[in-house]
Amino acid sequence: MSSIFTKIIRGEIPAKVVKRQDDMIAFHDVNPQAPVHVLVVPVQEVAAVRDCAGPEGQALLGRLMQFAAQVATELGLDADGYRLVTNTGRYGGQSVFHLHVHIMGGRPMGWPPG
Ligand code: 5GP
Repeated sequence: MSSIFTKIIRGEIPAKVVKRQDDMIAFHDVNPQAPVHVLVVPVQEVAAVRDCAGPEGQALLGRLMQFAAQVATELGLDADGYRLVTNTGRYGGQSVFHLHVHIMGGRPMGWPPG
């Protein structure tokens, strides 16, 4: 069964897309928790970072973080900074089980997160 993010990637569900390449997509979170809240998602369906084993997983995670940083730059977030978050499993607060990174910016972030 495909995830809600795969449906967005396929154009079956609308989303406000920020940037798209063959292997990655970035779109605005439907329920933003910061002035800028963008999700960066690999086209490949992998549930979470813990599922990214071996050289292929290493490449995917590297590419995902690199793409997230590019998107953050293009959103104008470099000067003030931003946060990248990936939630994993129940205690991590993950609600969509398709690997993704949250880009959050536009305000100072607290620490520790809730
Ligand atoms: P997680 O809780 O798994 O770390 O993050 C999932 C994120 O996906 C949440 O912030 C949630 O608001 C967002 N989200 C869930 N469904 C949709 C959707 O259909 N469209 C968009 N743009 N974001 C979604």
